[in-house]
Amino acid sequence: MGAIVALANQKGGVGKTTSAINIAAALGKRKKKVLLIDLDPQGNATSGLGIAKKDITNGIYEALIGHCAAADAVIKTKFDNLALIPSTISLVGAEIELAEEEHPEAFLKNALQPLREDYDYILIDCPPSLSRLTVNALTAADGLVIPMQSEYFALEGLSQLMQTVRLVRQHYNPSLALTGILLTMHNRRFLLASQVMRELKKYYAAQLFKPTVSRSVKLGEAPSYGEPISYYDPKGKGSKEYDDVARELMLRI
Ligand code: ADP
Ligand code: MG
Repeated sequence: MGAIVALANQKGGVGKTTSAINIAAALGKRKKKVLLIDLDPQGNATSGLGIAKKDITNGIYEALIGHCAAADAVIKTKFDNLALIPSTISLVGAEIELAEEEHPEAFLKNALQPLREDYDYILIDCPPSLSRLTVNALTAADGLVIPMQSEYFALEGLSQLMQTVRLVRQHYNPSLALTGILLTMHNRRFLLASQVMRELKKYYAAQLFKPTVSRSVKLGEAPSYGEPISYYDPKGKGSKEYDDVARELMLRI
């Protein structure tokens, strides 16, 4: 049975989608069967893998509300061992529709259940909020990866997110683990970055991923070519860094 890993942080622009795409592709290159779920109505993980949203009839929205089986929303990608359940803009409506249901937090978990044995890893790219969709991801997940930038406010955001994790554990998913905190767009030479790193180590030493991801032009460019970094620039630093992260993830979950 595959492990379900949510990548979440209520802050936007911290590298959730970039990490989801590139960890998923790196795991695929390492011969793991991977399913990436684009749970953000903005659909950046979908377009970042070169998939045109206008061509999609079944996406995660349809699977979530039971219009189709999750298996029927899976798209094979041209990348090794990597499949995707895409997002479409209709996912925006899911927040409101789920609000009327009895167990609004459990829809994703239930939808993914039949797929678990087909994959080694199911990664969920969450929207930038602590919304019902994110709670669905945390309820479905075995582990949580928190991508964050090394900046001052990141620490405040983290305590808010951890409070949500505690509530989800208490009410919906007692076995949710904090798989790791991943520093993205990191620059070790910046004083602030090293201060944030030090603070994080105080409280989350065990959870902090040893590899960090540096800021790089290529990582920012790759999605506009519809490719993970391990295909767009396989020999570059970003590819190496995300492969290191993928390897550590495999040891952790
Ligand atoms: P989120 O999903 O948390 O909103 P994204 O992964 O979309 O964040 O990243 C936000 C922006 O930063 C995107 O334009 C992305 O291409 C860029 N980006 C992410 N990681 C890096 C990096 N390591 N180096 C350079 N640009 C990055
Ligand atoms: Mg995103």
